[in-house]
Amino acid sequence: MKDQVFPHRHLLGIEGLTPIEINHLLDLSERYIAVNRSSKKTNESLKGRTIINLFFENSTRTRTSFELAALRLGANVINMQVETSSVAKGETLIDTAVTLNAMHPDVLAVRHSDSGAVKLLADKVNCGVVNGGDGSHEHPTQALLDALTIRRRKGRLSGLIVAICGDVLHSRVARSNFYLLLTMGARVRIIAPKTLIPSGVNRLGVEVFTDMSKGLKDADIVMMLRVQNERMKGSFIPSVREYFRFFGLDRQKLAQAKPDALIMHPGPMNRGTEIDSDVADDFERSAIREQVELGVAVRMAVLEVLAKNNMAFTSAGAGK
Ligand code: ASP
Repeated sequence: MKDQVFPHRHLLGIEGLTPIEINHLLDLSERYIAVNRSSKKTNESLKGRTIINLFFENSTRTRTSFELAALRLGANVINMQVETSSVAKGETLIDTAVTLNAMHPDVLAVRHSDSGAVKLLADKVNCGVVNGGDGSHEHPTQALLDALTIRRRKGRLSGLIVAICGDVLHSRVARSNFYLLLTMGARVRIIAPKTLIPSGVNRLGVEVFTDMSKGLKDADIVMMLRVQNERMKGSFIPSVREYFRFFGLDRQKLAQAKPDALIMHPGPMNRGTEIDSDVADDFERSAIREQVELGVAVRMAVLEVLAKNNMAFTSAGAGK
């Protein structure tokens, strides 16, 4: 039977999800935090199911997190090494998807450097697909784990002022967070140099700042983003030193935010570019380690829901 609150086959993005669906995924994730902190750490709810991690782009934490999540639910997990697979021999994205589909996985967790590639793949398979990050488009499980971290630390999402700072233009984390936080009633600000602000972003309902001291004023959450050099064609920032001076988070800039403002970063961090080690490692204020921890719980909840929904879709013969 499909999950009654989240009856979808795939999780390709946060855009379009309702507050009820988001809260449901967060509530399900919450239950796994205790399992992950216990010594046994296992639950057999996906025993016999198959999850394939298909990562066309580098990843340490997201891939490991999906793998651990699947293992802790008792599923069988395969990690596709894209560099050594047929993709390196020129097999197309679709061919790869169709080949993997023939092995009857329950869920594919897919990361790709092109925005939209994960959706394209989802349209060609008849199993569940979770987007592990597509280009600069969406990274839904990251936004869910960020929301879970905030909800646990602050008790709510609604009404909070969340400042998302740095390379917004190239960030799928920022985009998924806009959708989630605005849907849940938070106030979202972005703070970035003009060259790293996506055009038309204010139409989404976010407030735009180019000055850290103004944008951080009274913020409850300060979410720093990695400068994504690999997605920059040309020069978007004058120099690392200059960038850090104006947009890097240090004590002085942080002082503009609320005294108990939470510091977040999706990782991997460029210390000394977008964040100073002094604030990143301040465990009273920084939730960066907790974000990684809660990521496993969120992925357990998402894999569980999608694998169960997949059974229902498959047995109903719905095809896709
Ligand atoms: N790990 C996050 C992502 O895959 C953030 C980053 O890479 O900057 O998008």
